[in-house]
Amino acid sequence: MSKTILKNFLVFLIIFLVIAVLFSTYYVTAEKPTTIGLEKVVQQLNNGEISQIIVKGDQLEITQTNGKKEVSSKESTESLSTLLKNFGVEANKLQNVNIEIQSGGDWSFWLTTILPFLIPFILIVLFVYFMMRQLQGANTKALSFGQSQAREIQQKGKAKITFKDVAGCKEAKEELTEIVEFLKNPRKFTQLGAKIPKGVLLMGAPGTGKTLLAKAVAGEADVPFFSISGSEFVEMFVGVGASRVRDLFKRAKKSAPCIIFIDEIDAVGRQRGAGLGGSHDEREQTLNQILVEMDGMETKINVIVMAATNRPDVLDPALLRPGRFDRRVILDLPDINDREAILKVHAENKPISRETDLRRIAERTPGFSGADLANLLNEAAILSARRNKKIIEQAEIFESVEKVMLGPERKSHILNEAEKKITAFHEAGHALVAHELPHVDRVQKVSIISRGQAAGYTLKLPIEDRHLHSRSEFIEELSVLLAGFVAEKEIFGEVTTGASSDLRTATELAKSIVTEYGMDENIGPRTLGEREELIFLGKEIHEQRDYSEKTAERIDQSISALISSAQLTAKNIIIKDRKQLEKIVNELIKKETLEKEEFEALFPKTKK
Ligand code: ADP
Ligand code: ZN
Repeated sequence: MSKTILKNFLVFLIIFLVIAVLFSTYYVTAEKPTTIGLEKVVQQLNNGEISQIIVKGDQLEITQTNGKKEVSSKESTESLSTLLKNFGVEANKLQNVNIEIQSGGDWSFWLTTILPFLIPFILIVLFVYFMMRQLQGANTKALSFGQSQAREIQQKGKAKITFKDVAGCKEAKEELTEIVEFLKNPRKFTQLGAKIPKGVLLMGAPGTGKTLLAKAVAGEADVPFFSISGSEFVEMFVGVGASRVRDLFKRAKKSAPCIIFIDEIDAVGRQRGAGLGGSHDEREQTLNQILVEMDGMETKINVIVMAATNRPDVLDPALLRPGRFDRRVILDLPDINDREAILKVHAENKPISRETDLRRIAERTPGFSGADLANLLNEAAILSARRNKKIIEQAEIFESVEKVMLGPERKSHILNEAEKKITAFHEAGHALVAHELPHVDRVQKVSIISRGQAAGYTLKLPIEDRHLHSRSEFIEELSVLLAGFVAEKEIFGEVTTGASSDLRTATELAKSIVTEYGMDENIGPRTLGEREELIFLGKEIHEQRDYSEKTAERIDQSISALISSAQLTAKNIIIKDRKQLEKIVNELIKKETLEKEEFEALFPKTKK
């Protein structure tokens, strides 16, 4: 702000200086006429030295016969002719003089006399004016902080999002059909004395379609949709959030029936009293204001607040009380059928080859959210376009799965011979151990092309979606995680930094086995460590210890024991099947990437 004021000031200063310079040069160049008295004029007239007199008001501009210029002045009340008569100028002396009368004086004369005073004055006025405007601008900006930045969407015609556009989420849609009814036909319910719900909380992982569903409700009911993100309420200035909430509800009430959608409500709705950082009070005020508005809304006014969060566990209980967000809709990550349905929705407006089996793609994408799947098809379209194809084929979609999962391939990140060999042994280790252990998901792909952060990767996928996991699965998973490390150690005698992220994942898994799942004999079935939500820069920085120093030691021991036993399992497999390992390595170095079929062909025909 002050920068622009300074800039304007400088501009004015420059303009002022330029004008000043122009005027001063004007005065220097223009020949200054001498000023004379009236008697002198009379004298010169009598001598016949004057050829012209121009009368401008009470100013006389005199041109002598020899071209010299003079000025003089008279009383403004007296005309020149009477004056001259009074001075006794003979009439015949005037015959050769050209007398011109310009009424009211010449404007340029006035300009030149007044402007030098006027210009600085105008400049000052202008300057003050602009300063005021700037300040006012700042003021209005500050005021608009308090206005909500909610975007209002009135969906029309074809672009309208309805439940048809949301694949899967069957239960959620059923729940929300009721809300649509409320919005469309509130009287049906109020007649029976039913209270219309005011708040719906949508809970689910990012990308599971919370925003999409809220929009679909608005689309189905054909009402406007106000959308704002919780983080937009929280600004640097205290009190802004609350006034934004007030403004948002005011706007919404005017266009009722309608839907207010608050994304990321956990940004304001975290449990009060938890959290560090300055915006703490601000959040509380904003949250309170939301509650006040929701409580204060008359039942007649048909505004429904839908809020989305992926952290329902951290929400302030006050938000969940009856009359507030008492409807809760849970959105899970889609299962295989839903994934297929979502793929179908997004494949609709894309030219996809007829051979493409969306079911197989759904099989390959456990853990993908709706947004991931939409992104997957988009990536496949981009890839196909880059290859100058007219339609999207299954191969491109499969290739994009890994890109969405692991980040783009980095073919340019070329490994040198030695690195390539180490990476091949590392990945072959993972793949071999995964293949040998009965409870581990099947190997889908092994590659030594670096992707994202990893130098290579081994992709395993379950045959079906699973929700429960057993201890033996976890234990074997630990062995697979450590197999890369073990292979490097067995073959080269030392390990590289390439295994560090495997080790971190393994340690975390072991810790969860012990402290979360109660799967360790030494510790027994209890959870350890109270997770307390202290949020600082978006990270949980605190884990409350709810166990003794002694237990801590035992946890450490249990984790170490799990890891070393997993390491031993991996080691035994790698030593026993060393031939097999080398076979995989050679193939990997040759082809860089092995698909499931190529990988399985390397094994003698048996099991799994
Ligand atoms: P969230 O708000 O839960 O983070 P969004 O609603 O913004 O997720 O979803 C992002 C995108 O993912 C949507 O625009 C849509 O393209 C896609 N998507 C998510 N879930 C579904 C679904 N069930 N059916 C179709 N598309 C979906
Ligand atoms: Zn690894």
